[in-house]
Parts: sequence; structure tokens; C-alpha cells
Amino acid sequence: TTVTVALGARAYPIHIGPGLIGRAGSLIREALPRARRAFVISDDTVAPLYLEALGASLEAAGFAFARHIVPAGEASKSIARLEALLEDMLGFGMERSTPVIALGGGVVGDLAGFAAAVALRGVPFVQIPTTLLAQVDSSVGGKTAVNSRHGKNLIGAFHQPCLVLADTGALDTLPRRELLAGYAETAKYGLIGDAAFWDWLEAHGPALLAGDAGLRADAIAVSCRAKAAVVAADERESGQRALLNLGHTFGHALEAETGYGDALLHGEAVAIGMVMALDLSRRLGVCPGQDVERVRGHFEAVGLPTRPDPARAWDIDRLIGHMAKDKKVDDGRVTFVLAKGIGGAYLNRDVPADAVRETLAASLA
Ligand code: NAD
Ligand code: ZN
Repeated sequence: TTVTVALGARAYPIHIGPGLIGRAGSLIREALPRARRAFVISDDTVAPLYLEALGASLEAAGFAFARHIVPAGEASKSIARLEALLEDMLGFGMERSTPVIALGGGVVGDLAGFAAAVALRGVPFVQIPTTLLAQVDSSVGGKTAVNSRHGKNLIGAFHQPCLVLADTGALDTLPRRELLAGYAETAKYGLIGDAAFWDWLEAHGPALLAGDAGLRADAIAVSCRAKAAVVAADERESGQRALLNLGHTFGHALEAETGYGDALLHGEAVAIGMVMALDLSRRLGVCPGQDVERVRGHFEAVGLPTRPDPARAWDIDRLIGHMAKDKKVDDGRVTFVLAKGIGGAYLNRDVPADAVRETLAASLA
């Protein structure tokens, strides 16, 4: 399957299916006929699994390539790693036609994408996402970033890839917990604007998670189509792209408290955050209670968390403090993504503080 991100002269295809890593060389060659070299960035979990196959296909397509491997994990999205990476890239003799290829999850994609945005003021960028989260979300749309001590993703750039290769075969080695975290972001597209897709996920989600490759490819394609449509309409997030942040205002607050680590994965935080966002919508009288329960029920059925870990001491004021520092805050106001039910997300800048507090209190009780 191929989905196109319609951005005029910068339009690009997302190929979805098995075996794409082995065909990457020829697909990148088609996209970049004149490139002589390629620079591959991966992490130390993904590289041993997939870099050899990628390298062989690059060489077969006539690319001389270099590799740069970072430690797996969020800590690699740092200015220090970025600097080492950029110096390595420039030492390799990058030319303006030399593609940077990200082979890995969202961490590698965000770091490599930012390096591609700033090296020589911008070189071609190819995403080969290997987590479900990266295949349905982070590899599409051109947001790239590293983290600051002042917060996540605060140093970045918009830099669209010229090609995305979502090899569904790579998901076979992904730990179940990471797969579920990506599933939460997939489900987000149903909740935002596609009630029929939500119904489909309720029916097929368990089989998809158990390993059905066809169902996985279908869900990735639906997700990429949804994200591509939003990105094409609002590339720089001046309006509707913010809908993609459903569940993220609450989710980021939980992540900020847990330190962006193994205690709570991003997708897990977003699952909890989406339940909270629907519950908040219900409290404001716009979302039917049964829709909140459907979402909670489905996430519980597949094994996603739906409330913050009760074993932990959460502080509502601190959580609210994190929300007020979110990037989506403008003029001191938080833009919330609410939902008039499954498939009916909309933006609201006037959510009463009491309702937010009650939502948090209920979830933590
Ligand atoms: P990740 O990149 O850390 O990958 C998760 C773990 O899975 C890592 O340990 C990785 O080594 C391992 N892994 C990756 N592919 C594997 C495979 N095929 N088999 C086995 N193990 C594999 O995390 P992620 O969830 O992919 O991405 C999270 C990051 O994405 C965050 O930094 C977040 O800010 C960013 N993000 C960016 C955007 C965007 O639009 N740019 C959107 C959403 C999230
Ligand atoms: Zn997310």
C-alpha cells in the first residue's frame, strides 16, 4: 500500500508492507537518482536486527553509506548526541544530495530528522520507522526535535522526509508493550475523526496485536492517511493539526512526572490521556458517557492502561502545572482537544479549570 502526503512540490510517498527494508536501496535510488552516498542513523537495539539488510540493499543500489548508532532510548534525543552526529555526518563528506536515513523508532527519527534539517541547511531525509508508533505517527509529518532540560521536543524544526518506508515485518521483533503503545496512537485517529475505524479496531485490534500482518498494514495505512490529510491541510500546526494532540495534554503531564522513561511509555500516557480527554468532554456535557466507557473498555481489553498507576503518589497541582507549560499553550491558555463522542474531536481554548481538576481527581481516585 502507498499513501501520499500531498504537499505540492514536497509531496512524498509512504510505502507500507512487508520486506521494504530489503528493497530500500532501490526505492531510495528512485527518489534520489543522483545521490552517491547515504548516511544511516539507528540505535543499538535496531541496528543489529535490520542494519545489515538495509546496508546490503543500499550497496546493491550503488550507495556508499556510513552509519551512526546511538544508544536506544529517549536520552539520545539530546543536543550532545546531535552535535556528535552532525560532526560525524560532516566528516563523512555529506553533500547536499546525500540522504540521511533514519532506521528505528521515533527517537531515531526525531534526532536524524533534525540533523537532516540543519546539516548544510537541509539534506534529503528518509524515514524507515521500525516501531508501530513511528509507522503510524512520528515518521509522517515533518516534525523533528531533540529535548531540552526545559522540556521535551523544544529544540526542533519542520523538515519533511522525501520517502517513508514502513516495513511491517519489523514489528515482529517489537516488544508487546511497545506495540501496544503504538496502538494507542493508531486508536487516536479513530477517536479524532473516524468512528468506523474505531469500530474496526474494536473488532480487529486483538488479532492485529497478536500478530496479523494484514490487519497491521491496514491499520497503518488508515492511520497514515489520516495523519497525511491533517498535515497536508495544516503543515505547521496553525490550526487543525492540533487535533492530533488528543490525549496529549494530559498525557504529557503524566510523562513529565514519570520522567519520560520506562515507568510510563508515551503511548501509554496518551491512552490514559485520551480516556481523560473524553471524560473531561463528558463532564462538559458534550460527550456521551457510553463513548467514554467504550474507549476505556477497549483499552482495558487489549492491555493498555486507562488511569495513572494508583501505586504512585500523584499531585494534581503539579500535573496542572505541567499542562500550563505545554507547547500548546498560547497567551497563557491551554488548548484542549475535546470530543463530542468517538470520531468527533474538536479544539477548545476555554475549558474551565474546575472541570480539568475534577477529571484528574476522578482518574487518580
Ligand atoms: P523509541 O524510538 O524509543 O523505540 C522504542 C524502543 O523500541 C527502543 O528501545 C527501540 O530501540 C526499540 N525498537 C525499535 N524498533 C524495534 C524493532 N523493530 N524491534 C525491536 N525493538 C525495536 O520510541 P518510539 O515509541 O518509536 O518513539 C517515541 C519518540 O517519538 C518520542 O521521543 C516522541 O517524542 C517521538 N514522537 C515524535 C513525533 C513526531 O511527529 N515527530 C510524534 C510522536 C512521537
Ligand atoms: Zn503521541
